[in-house]
Amino acid sequence: MHTIDLRSDTVTLPTEAMRLAMYQAELGDDVYGEDPTVNRLEQLSAERMGKEAALFVVSGTMGNLVALLTHCGRGDEVIMGDQAHTFIYEQGGSSALGGIHVHTVPNLPDGSLDPAQVRDAVRSPNIHFPFTRLICLENTHNRCGGAVVSLEQMDAIRAVAQEAGVQLHLDGARVFNAAVALGVPVADIAARVDTIQFCLSKGLSAPVGSVIAGPAEFIARARRMRKVVGGGFRQAGVLAAAGIVALETMVDRLTEDHANAQALARGLAEIPAIKIDPSAVRTNIVMFGLSDPGMQMSTVQQGLADRGVRINAADAHRFRAVTHYGISAEDIICVLDAVQEVVGA
Ligand SMILES: *Cc1c(COP(=O)(O)O)cnc(C)c1O
Repeated sequence: MHTIDLRSDTVTLPTEAMRLAMYQAELGDDVYGEDPTVNRLEQLSAERMGKEAALFVVSGTMGNLVALLTHCGRGDEVIMGDQAHTFIYEQGGSSALGGIHVHTVPNLPDGSLDPAQVRDAVRSPNIHFPFTRLICLENTHNRCGGAVVSLEQMDAIRAVAQEAGVQLHLDGARVFNAAVALGVPVADIAARVDTIQFCLSKGLSAPVGSVIAGPAEFIARARRMRKVVGGGFRQAGVLAAAGIVALETMVDRLTEDHANAQALARGLAEIPAIKIDPSAVRTNIVMFGLSDPGMQMSTVQQGLADRGVRINAADAHRFRAVTHYGISAEDIICVLDAVQEVVGA
């Protein structure tokens, strides 16, 4: 049976071109700054983001952690959305390892933050308060169903950060999906923030890796932080080689993933047992629930698995299906048939 794996775009396998580039990659010891392929990936990433410098890291989680550790000292405060991946899914690493105090404000359903609430959250100088050093945004927004935060919404938070003298970081794990959805160069998004983390191993299909980009002085300090969390990874050019192919060949095709997500959402909307707002689907993530509260999510999940369709529950009420390089338009038709069968058309 052909498995259709919609659990995440992290399940994507490297392309033939990536495997060839990995095989042929020129290598050196990256801790000495001597891996030419890593250096090339970092330079290319900085160029794409319109930043001075970039740093190759193992994962998105490490990218956000190293960025937060570099921005904030112990007892400093970071403001982020209460639905942020960094708040929910990264083990509270910035607090555990960096003593950083996380202050959440509610995410709006469209993934953005209310600028007035962020302004109110920034601490004034007072002996009782921590220092606010950083604000974090996320684009696209994972928990908000792959929502795209607009350039205007980012500008509004940027203005608050500048007025308060606070830095702005973007968790851009899927920032290329945002750029494609907005129809702008990714640098237009990155220009709104001081530092950005993006993933090569999600929709861009590289096997491993993320990149932090920002000012050269910041990246030099982040390189030290990466080392202390064990992220000095030697002949990493075998991985960076795939990342270069990802940046050069896998960005434009994200429109296919978005079209497949749209087709899935429209099809699901025609099934009465499914609860979904197809207009909320903007990129490659489709969130949906069940209209009948008596129907068990685990039963539906198992029924789909029995038919070769794998999806995750996002929470107690919603499934999350993610389209990616391994999913075709025909697969979407099969998924809709399987859902029909399982929930009873
Ligand atoms: C996946 C993801 C991360 C973490 O990336 P990993 O490579 O899985 O550690 C961070 N932020 C967002 C928004 C993500 O979707």
